[in-house]
Amino acid sequence: MSIVILGSTTCKLCGKIIQEGDEYIAFPSFVLNQTDPLWKFNNSIVHLSCLRDEPYGEVALDMLRALKESLDAKICQVCGLPIKVADDFFTFGYLTSDRSSPVFEFNFLCFHIQHIRIWSQRLNAIERFKILSGDPMWDSKFIEDTLSVLY
Ligand SMILES: [Zn+2]
Ligand SMILES: [Zn+2]
Repeated sequence: MSIVILGSTTCKLCGKIIQEGDEYIAFPSFVLNQTDPLWKFNNSIVHLSCLRDEPYGEVALDMLRALKESLDAKICQVCGLPIKVADDFFTFGYLTSDRSSPVFEFNFLCFHIQHIRIWSQRLNAIERFKILSGDPMWDSKFIEDTLSVLY
């Protein structure tokens, strides 16, 4: 998680020090792929005004908001109940902002681990993540780990 020390942390976009009273956003480490257009915001602190001037700035804000909502609620996609035990929690997190990606619809989905096996989209998800394995845009370790959870 990014920590802001006012008067000493610099904005990743403009390089200036973030001052008291400045509006800023602290992005956690949430982007998987270095080829993702949101990669430059990963684990970084930026002025809100600088972010708004960036291509993909609004997209990054939307994705961060959706990520936070999913992690605050932690609702299982299968049974619809909140997941209360950390060991029983799995989420895809943020996968991609590309709406044409085969896995876009799986962004932010959360599960009780034992419920993944009875998820109606499980086989579909396996097929789609398989499409991405070998894709140089995607981190192969992430794809392997995700497939091993789905199998
Ligand atoms: Zn800035
Ligand atoms: Zn469940």
